[in-house]
Amino acid sequence: MTLQVISVAEIRGLLAQLMEQGRVVAPHKRPGDRQWAFEDLTDPADAVLQYTTTIIPAKKYAFPPKETLLRYELGQAPSVTAVVDSEPLVLFGVHTCDLYGLTALDTAFADHFADANYLEKRAKMRIIGIECVPDEWCFCASMGTATIDSGYELFLTPLPDEEHYIVEVGSDAGDEMLKGIASREATAGEVSYLKTHLNRKITQERHLDSDYTALPLLFTGFAESPVWEKWAEKCYGCGTCNLTCPTCFCWDVLDEMGLALTTGERRREWDGCMLEGFARVATGENFRENRTERLRHRFFRKYAYLFTRYGKPYCCGCGRCVRQCLVKIDPVGVINELIAAHGKGGALIG
Ligand code: SF4
Ligand code: SF4
Ligand code: SF4
Repeated sequence: MTLQVISVAEIRGLLAQLMEQGRVVAPHKRPGDRQWAFEDLTDPADAVLQYTTTIIPAKKYAFPPKETLLRYELGQAPSVTAVVDSEPLVLFGVHTCDLYGLTALDTAFADHFADANYLEKRAKMRIIGIECVPDEWCFCASMGTATIDSGYELFLTPLPDEEHYIVEVGSDAGDEMLKGIASREATAGEVSYLKTHLNRKITQERHLDSDYTALPLLFTGFAESPVWEKWAEKCYGCGTCNLTCPTCFCWDVLDEMGLALTTGERRREWDGCMLEGFARVATGENFRENRTERLRHRFFRKYAYLFTRYGKPYCCGCGRCVRQCLVKIDPVGVINELIAAHGKGGALIG
């Protein structure tokens, strides 16, 4: 299909149409400077089209912060019932970094034991992506996620007048969505603007001093670096960086029994490797007791272990972790400092 152009009024019309069919979530402005959040849409006019990032990524709709996994009853005839909640959902306004984040989670949740709770929610999700407004913390270009060509039904890029958007169709469901929506074919000038816009996006000021594909090899030389301790000295161990990250997927499992001790439920809740209790085991030992070990582990996991396992990094360069971190522990700053201290050869020379 050729690229189409639609107006902002038509985008709001499309949202109204989708809301008639079911649940739609979209970015909303939140109190405070540059704060946005994905929330249920009740009025198409509330959907924010141009924003930097939401506080919590869209992963919360496929992997909720708290989720019941099963319910059980004890007694004469004990029973256990799996709980898998899912419903059709349109996710509007997802940026390229967050689209990548979802595909990274798709891989992890399908690995080894397919996670029905996550995968069923994802299967019922339709996504309308939108081009973003980068800020000083974005480094998606360094992670190869500034552009993406799959994982969405429609993808919208604003034209300079900001009253019209170029629409790329990514699936048959995207084609369906556009039926009944007034659009016209993009002109040659508009297509060429799209290319210029993307070229501008990939020349970001904040960038890694290395090609991201070299990171797993580079990290082999970083394990004993004093750079970890230097950054970890500032860290509060609050876990915000994990909990706001679109590619983090760790959780804890808890059982909650009723007062009569005959019924209960098992649920999972987000967890994060920067939290002190994350690696504490039942006997009381903690195998990543200090913040230096935890910070190093987090970085190794994102840029080396999972990269090696799945063939892609578990960081999309969205900058949420540093944006929300009180002491601004910044992946680009940490990695560039490691490279400066130990070189690009993957060997410790410091
Ligand atoms: S958000 Fe910052 S202070 Fe909190 S755990 Fe992460 S790096 Fe440490
Ligand atoms: S590590 Fe930070 S920059 Fe990378 S995906 Fe997570 S929140 Fe975004
Ligand atoms: S990280 Fe990239 S895609 Fe994500 S909001 Fe920033 S500039 Fe946009």
